[in-house]
Amino acid sequence: MKNSLLLILVTILTGSCSNKDNNMTDYPVKPVAFTNVKFTDNFWLPRLDTNRIITIPYDFKKCEETHRIDNFAIAGGLQKGSFVGIRYNDSDVYKVIEGASYSLNIHPDPELEKYLDDLIAKITAAQEDDGYLYTCRTINPDSLPAYTGKTRWSQLKDSHELYNIGHMYEAAVAYYRATGKKSLLKVAIRSANLIDKVFGQGEDQLHGVPGHQEIEIGLVKLYRVRGDKKYLKLAKYFLDQRGNPAGHKLYVYGEDGNNKIYTQDYKPVTEQFEAVGHAVRAAYMYSGMTDIAALTNDKNYNKAVDKLWDNVVSKKLYITGGIGAKHAGEAFGENYYLPNLSAYNETCAAVANILWNQRMFLLNGDAKYIDVLERTLYNGFLSGVSIHGDKFFYPNPLESDGSHERKPWFSCSCCPTNVARFLPSLPGYVYAHTKDDLFINLYIGNKANINMDFGEINISQTTNYPWDGNVKINIEPEIKSKFTVSLRIPGWAQNKPVPSDLYHYMNRSDQKPIIKINNKEIKYSISNGYAKINRQWEKEDVIEIEFPMLARKVIANEKVKEDIGKYSIERGPIVYCAEWVDNGGKVRNLLLDKNADFTHEYKENLINSVVILKGISKSLSIDKSGNSTIEKEQNFIAIPYYAWAHRGNGEMAVWFPYEKSAANPTPPPTIASESKVSALYTHDQILAVNDQLNPKNSNDHEIPRFTFWDHKGTTEWVQYDFNEETTISNIHIYWFDDGPNGGCRVPETWKILYLKNGEWKEVSKHGEYPVLKDEFTSIEISSVKTKSMRLEIKLKENFSGGILEWKLD
Ligand SMILES: [Zn+2]
Repeated sequence: MKNSLLLILVTILTGSCSNKDNNMTDYPVKPVAFTNVKFTDNFWLPRLDTNRIITIPYDFKKCEETHRIDNFAIAGGLQKGSFVGIRYNDSDVYKVIEGASYSLNIHPDPELEKYLDDLIAKITAAQEDDGYLYTCRTINPDSLPAYTGKTRWSQLKDSHELYNIGHMYEAAVAYYRATGKKSLLKVAIRSANLIDKVFGQGEDQLHGVPGHQEIEIGLVKLYRVRGDKKYLKLAKYFLDQRGNPAGHKLYVYGEDGNNKIYTQDYKPVTEQFEAVGHAVRAAYMYSGMTDIAALTNDKNYNKAVDKLWDNVVSKKLYITGGIGAKHAGEAFGENYYLPNLSAYNETCAAVANILWNQRMFLLNGDAKYIDVLERTLYNGFLSGVSIHGDKFFYPNPLESDGSHERKPWFSCSCCPTNVARFLPSLPGYVYAHTKDDLFINLYIGNKANINMDFGEINISQTTNYPWDGNVKINIEPEIKSKFTVSLRIPGWAQNKPVPSDLYHYMNRSDQKPIIKINNKEIKYSISNGYAKINRQWEKEDVIEIEFPMLARKVIANEKVKEDIGKYSIERGPIVYCAEWVDNGGKVRNLLLDKNADFTHEYKENLINSVVILKGISKSLSIDKSGNSTIEKEQNFIAIPYYAWAHRGNGEMAVWFPYEKSAANPTPPPTIASESKVSALYTHDQILAVNDQLNPKNSNDHEIPRFTFWDHKGTTEWVQYDFNEETTISNIHIYWFDDGPNGGCRVPETWKILYLKNGEWKEVSKHGEYPVLKDEFTSIEISSVKTKSMRLEIKLKENFSGGILEWKLD
């Protein structure tokens, strides 16, 4: 870092902006910028390379194919056409620009930079003269997509007008830092100045808050680059206004408070102590609140984020670090509501959880936040992207009936673009420092260069973490200096998987991490999760750490109903799962021994190299008579959770019953369960149709469902193909219906067809086809012998529909 421009950029990145008001406070701990940390390891470096070489170009290509980029060119008058897509599609383009900029920082790439310059020219053209930027309204204010509001800002709770530009601010700052070019930053400043004029406490200003938080984070970043306090004030304004303390002039939600909870607008943020509503909105908001707590020293903000964090970590966090249990509203569930099969855990929520926990660490200097961050990083986040970098999970469940798979893209494609922007910034999470305390938070092979007050430190880590627990750290201060090196001792190495009583290990381990300095083992005590080593450091000093890497069984708090009588398994920071492919075709029927031990084995050629765990289990099934359970002993193999769903579709589980009462023996096969199911159009999970899970009601969200979403009023079909000609005389269907709030209803009409001599014929039966809700619709038909059977379904006008289970005999 000899170059002075780079030095300035680094200063900005670490948060100590030179032209900032000296009276303002900031995070007491400064992160070491990702530009100063170069990964050299075998775990993350390949993932970052894949992100740079595959994911970023892939995401841009998808943005082109889906008209997301054309929308800017059309809004800017550079080409003709109309708006295509969803109102928040602009944000995806900004997020990939942010990721591409981080990538440019580390890997200069003139071709990519040229691509970004061209793209930024389109964005610049799309901005209206006064700074307004929202392509769908600019393209045609008279023909707007749904939920945008007739005029600017008139439907803020849904429009994402402020959400989109929040991501643009983050992209602008990233691009400026990467290249020194102000092109996108100018767009951001024009936009933020407009927002500052329009929104505020003044009589002639609008009072309102965005329905999806994000602009708060973006404004704080803009403040850091510009040093202009009005952006910080505006960020705080949008947070302060939530919960409508002064009465919004602008919009009112419906009388029921549900929408307000969904958007965390149900009470002032400083009075919110339980994590509720849409999880990504929430965690972006908590990140923004933590920024405000640090930058304005507002104690009420501080208290609120502490309480919110305690609530999440004590009652709403999956063992994978995932948050947001519910599909409905992509939301946090009630306390201790952590179902596995239906767990939502959006990839974006994992990213948001990481962003928030990093800020909580910087505010408090406590390793417990990094424990949560690391858990999320290696598990709930990393599962969101395939090892090849071009397929993504939106939800990340902890159990699967085989119907989950990563997808190339989504109509709402927030997750692929969040992956692209987060991964290149990961080196910025490894180190942090105060005046004389150097924090080592993540153990990843790297070479880094850190500017402390007393001079520069070169530091490198050599390790095979997370596969083994040996870490070697070379410390080379430019000048021999006395300072503290704070080595994070992860909670999992201290018998504490999470910093709460939500999970604990079944057996405590007496093995303690060993720390050696220059080959000599030292005694240490742990403070705030760190072994703090204060001494005179000089060139060629070497720290070695040995973390005990045991496969350990985790028990959930007994209030988590779903996990009673079960344990999950982890080793180091990695949470394990079992997949069908390694365990005789099924895993949801496994029963493990309470005292089971697991050995580990490094598999170099399995899913990009992983350590697997091996043991013994029993598989349970119910015999044909339905009266007795058959137990079969078999080998048990577990793989890292993040690596699941790379070898075809099948069952997966993270929590394993060790008590028979919690086991889930496979029911005897039926005609339906043995047949191949297909449909004209599929959304959600087609295998839900014959997964032998009986619904509790038509709106059962805890079992997988199959729907035709977002087809409405159309005629659809679902089909069973049998292995051989089969005689059918009874049909039982459980319709999905999530009314009155959702968009699916029982169908308008339906009929049953069967394949005869290559043609579809309707079965013969007495009377009408009934349509029942909250129970099986069963009808008897004149027996047919066929190889294929089909349900033809006419959906209700303006509604979609779906099926929870279809049986036949
Ligand atoms: Zn997402």
